Amino acid sequence: MMKTSIYGLTFKELTDWLVERGEQKFRAEQVWDWLYKKRITSFDQMKNVNKSCITLLDEHFFIKTLTEEIVQESSDGTMKFLFKLADGNLIETVLMRFNYGLSVCVTTQVGCNIGCSFCASGLLTKSRDLTAGEIVEQIMHVQMHLDKRAKEERVSHIVVIGIGEPLDNFDNVMNFLYVVNEDRGLNIGARHITVSTSGLAHKIYDFADTDIQVNLAVSIHAPNNDLRTRIMKINRAFPLEKLMPSIKYYLQKRNRRITYEYIMLHDVNDKEEHARELSTLLADHRHLAYVNLIPYNSVDEHDQYRRSETATIQKFHETLKKRGIASGVRWEQGADIDAACGQLRSKQMKKAE
Ligand code: SAH
Ligand code: SF4
Repeated sequence: MMKTSIYGLTFKELTDWLVERGEQKFRAEQVWDWLYKKRITSFDQMKNVNKSCITLLDEHFFIKTLTEEIVQESSDGTMKFLFKLADGNLIETVLMRFNYGLSVCVTTQVGCNIGCSFCASGLLTKSRDLTAGEIVEQIMHVQMHLDKRAKEERVSHIVVIGIGEPLDNFDNVMNFLYVVNEDRGLNIGARHITVSTSGLAHKIYDFADTDIQVNLAVSIHAPNNDLRTRIMKINRAFPLEKLMPSIKYYLQKRNRRITYEYIMLHDVNDKEEHARELSTLLADHRHLAYVNLIPYNSVDEHDQYRRSETATIQKFHETLKKRGIASGVRWEQGADIDAACGQLRSKQMKKAE
């Protein structure tokens, strides 16, 4: 019998699982309270749960599967965790501090198969998907780390923007979202959660059809197919004429603002004409579009790229603004601790080679 992580089960799944085995319904409430409110780390700490139920849970589930390998804290309070999974693979999780709360960036796959030409994660092809439990545990681990500091800080936001393509691990990511959103658990509001995709159009339709109102971000990075294919080879499979209709479908169903991520690469996609072309691409839903301009973080292996000049980024932003498209610049946090996507992990992997 294979044990799995209990964090991977939604409240309903755990209730059904317990009831099928002759336990009463309220046991699931007790177990969830111990797991997510009291945040215990072994089943025998569940004081009001009967022994037979504890044995049953212990036989089938793990609570902790991640081992903390490295924690780095930056001068701005950003924290980066490197975890070892039960099978020895390494993943990373980042905690960022904003004026609106604490946001955790989670990893969804070990590596990534999309292979964007600017990304450190894409250098390492995917070796497997993370389970829902492993994704939830990243949040739990960070929250427990905060609990130890006795400042009563709470993870209030989640960005699914770490290593991996979340929509390529759809079911596990959905279970993760349901677990963290559940009000008797961590109770992180759907509107405080953002999922970022490289643009798997067929999965954007599925995502729009789910019943959880989390935010969507699309990594657009270029305003036309030629350039986008150069930067992200996934554009061959899902060119703009496939991607944009899936986004329109999402907007029709949700009527929620969508974020477009745009990595600023010097002399590649940062010219005035690109800003104009981008504003045309988004014109028909400009009231629901927000462009996040991301200064490129250099990755040793991608020496063909450089970060755009600050003045160029500013000009790009102004051009979008003049054409009615809202945008902002996302200056990275934790620059002194390799907090960009995949960087800590790829350094560790290199050391290990
Ligand atoms: N796979 C999903 C989500 C994770 S990657 C997606 O592509 O949307 C998400 C983001 O990581 C990219 O959009 C980009 O914002 C950021 N990123 C990756 N490599 C980067 C780099 N070298 N510099 C700055 N940001 C980077
Ligand atoms: Fe994968 Fe996202 Fe990196 Fe592209 S940017 S390689 S989709 S993690």
